[in-house]
Amino acid sequence: MAGGDVVEVYEGDLDRPYEVVGRVRARTDVFHLEPGLPPDRGQLDVRLGEKAFDKYGANAVIQVHYNEIWIEDANRPLLIGEGVAVIFDCQCEHSSGVFWGDRCLDCAGRRTP
Ligand SMILES: [Zn+2]
Repeated sequence: MAGGDVVEVYEGDLDRPYEVVGRVRARTDVFHLEPGLPPDRGQLDVRLGEKAFDKYGANAVIQVHYNEIWIEDANRPLLIGEGVAVIFDCQCEHSSGVFWGDRCLDCAGRRTP
């Protein structure tokens, strides 16, 4: 299962309960873009999401900080993103409880005791 496109990436915090499962870090390609173009933050967010999903099965990456480092040889900045991988707590009203393992099939959150 490829999860990069389903993992949400935020600079801020969440207004729903979650559990912190780890930290993730990713960077943009240095030589991928034409010189002069800004670093691709969308690409970076996708990578953060993919790492968070692959390593932790995370639902989201929050509190993301971005840092630019100028790469002299490439004549362009490199963008580095670092954030906190989290798994949501399921808050659905479950009359029948549709879970796959400990994950809710409706919201992908984790079953809470
Ligand atoms: Zn749920």
